[in-house]
Formats: sequence, structure tokens, C-alpha cells
Amino acid sequence: MSLDDEGYQPRTNKICFIPACTNTSVKKPGLKFFCIRKELTENWCQLVGRNCPKKKKLLCCEDHLNVKEDLQNYENYLAGARARLKLSATLKNIPTPRVAVDFGIVKLKSKKKSDNSSDTKYAGKHGRNHLMAKIASKPKIYLGLPKNYVWAIDLLAKESSCLPLDIIITLFKIKTNDTFIQMSDEFEIPRCTIRLLFEENVYMLATFLQNIVYLPSLYEIKKNLPLMLRMKYSKVQMIIDCFEIQIEKPSKAFRRAQTRSQNKSCNTVKYLIACTAVGFIAFISKGYGGRISDKAIACKSGLIDIVPPNAVIMAGRGFKEIECLLSTKNVKLLCPPSVRSYSKLTKEDVIKTNEISPLSANIERVIKKVQEFHMLKPHAVVNHKHLKYLDEIVTIACGLINLQNPVLNADWQIE
Ligand SMILES: [Zn+2]
Repeated sequence: MSLDDEGYQPRTNKICFIPACTNTSVKKPGLKFFCIRKELTENWCQLVGRNCPKKKKLLCCEDHLNVKEDLQNYENYLAGARARLKLSATLKNIPTPRVAVDFGIVKLKSKKKSDNSSDTKYAGKHGRNHLMAKIASKPKIYLGLPKNYVWAIDLLAKESSCLPLDIIITLFKIKTNDTFIQMSDEFEIPRCTIRLLFEENVYMLATFLQNIVYLPSLYEIKKNLPLMLRMKYSKVQMIIDCFEIQIEKPSKAFRRAQTRSQNKSCNTVKYLIACTAVGFIAFISKGYGGRISDKAIACKSGLIDIVPPNAVIMAGRGFKEIECLLSTKNVKLLCPPSVRSYSKLTKEDVIKTNEISPLSANIERVIKKVQEFHMLKPHAVVNHKHLKYLDEIVTIACGLINLQNPVLNADWQIE
């Protein structure tokens, strides 16, 4: 979630980059962790048998270093300066994995049993192969990825120089929200490796998939609109709404207040989402503390910047107040008329509401699709450890949803 003015910064846990090393700063508070220099990263990753992330800095715990010899500035480091490793530093005491990690990938593409059955010959009923076969037959259920896009796993793995299994593990976690312990059993990989793979690849996947979340041109939007809707709604570029995800109750009072949602009466992170009339996700905001109003999130999230001039937007009642902000760009906002208690809707109000409702139902369907990713369920009660990459998880889910069939097909049928 975003950390700017909402000031919500979850505690970060330092993790040793060696897959078989289980040291973390939470588990061993006194242990020192050292940032691995760019020049050393690739070699060291190869040495310990893991993929090398392109952007993320890796940390090595002091168990594998001789601090006095391996630091370039040992004296200054003792005096409080930031440690810098020598280029000649070498790794020591590399632990061997407790369980041999076999990254041999079961081909997801073919389920043909015909000729080459040697792959499946050794597949036990309860092995990783069995799990992989399940995933291969229902990738949308287990990964959120439609079957016709399964090839993207190989492509992403190649692009990011990681293994297809790394991507499968990351998507599986987001979709099923199984615990790392459960996943360790399911994939037959140590829990710490699973967690490490997930934490690394979640950023990489978000970077790729955020490119699939964009506002199409008005021409494209019109082209994809079912004929029946083209007359009335051809100018509507976006429908916007918010959704919230319950998080663990923060321990600090100030954070508790910030994330306290009035609608949900629990602590939440709130996102603003926008989709086109057929349900293609055009915008997803960063996460904000659940206390934020619809108006404030629309202002802060940068949504207004991406709205083209003279566009038409549909929104729920809570967004009525952003009308003035949009008017500077000559953007028209369609909101259902506000309901006053004890007063009847006028005939005009009813017509207006009926006009808006078929499309506003689509944003609700899109939000339901987001919530099909179990880590993002409304009452997921997100662990504070996962908060730091909740935005990335939401982005990944939105990208995958855009690869799925639109909520509305050309015959105005709900998928
Ligand atoms: Zn270590």
C-alpha cells in the first residue's frame, strides 16, 4: 500500500538471500545483514543456486561472511558507517538445502497422455507433479490465469531470468492464499524458499502486468461496446468505484485510526478502481488507509490526471463531490441521484438511476473478480507482513483479470 501521506509503514523483515538459510532479522534480532554489491550479486546467486533479481537489492547474513576481512570499511563500519563489501569478499558456510529442490518443470502446455508418458510415469498421487497437473488443467482456478494465456508463464520466466515454477508459486499464493507452510508441502520446497521466491517475484510480476492495466482509446472502447449499448453509452470512458480489503488490526493507535473503515467497521486498505463499460480495468490506485473518503482517494490517486478532457465518467454516490474537480477538464460525471431518506425519488431520478445501473453493475462484477484472488478477499485480514506488497498483488490481479474474458461479451451477455 502507499506510504506517502497516509504514513503507514509496516515493519520490514530482513531475509538472508541464501535459499537454504533461514535467518531473518525478526527471528534473530541481533544478527547483522549486509547489502550485496551489484558486482557480486550475479556470481553469488549462481553460487547458492537461486535466480538473480534485476532490481531488488539482496542481503546476506553475517553467518556467511568474515565481517572483519570482507568489509572494505570495517573501521568506519564499527563507528556507525554503512558497511561496504570488498569485491574480493567470498561466501562461507553456505548451508545445503534440507530438501533437495528439484526445479524440473512439468510442462504446463500439454495434457496429452498419448505418446511420451515418461514425464508422468513417476508422478505420485501426492507429489508436486500431481499438483502441477491440477494447475495445468485449471490454471484460472489455481493461478487466476486463463488457459489461453498459460504460455505467458514461460515468456515471463524468460524475460525475468527466473524459472517458470517461481512464477507459478507466486501466482498460486495470490490466488489461493494458502499459507507458506501449506505451499511448502504442496510444492515440496522448503517454506523459506517459497517465501523468498514469492517476495521477489511479486515485484517483478507487478512490473510486467501493470502494462496491461491502461485506459484504451475512446475508439477502442466504442468498438468493443455491445451494439445495444453503443447508442446510449458510447461516450462513457470509465466507471469508477472503490473496494476495501480487511487487514490485521495494527498495533499502533494512529495506524489503527488511519485504516479504520466506516463502511466496514474494521481496519482496511482501500483502492480506487476504474474500468471501461465492458469491464476492462483501466486504472488501479495505490492502497490507502480505509478511513479515506471516496473524494479524497479520487484526488490523491492520480485518477483525474489520466482522464482525457471531455470524457464521460460514471461513479457511485460517494464521488458526487469530485464533479467540481473534473469540470476543469470539461469531464462529465454521471452519478446516481442521492437518496434522501423519507423522500420519494422523482420520475427523473428513477430514469437517471436506471440509465446508470447496467454499467455500474459491471464495475461491481470486476471488483468481484478481484476478490476471487483469495489474498484480496474483502475479509482476507491481510497479515501485516504482506502489507508492503499489497499494491503489487492488487496490480497483478488486475492485469490477470484483463487477460480473462471481459465481464460483458459482445452479445451483452454476462460472462
Ligand atoms: Zn544467511
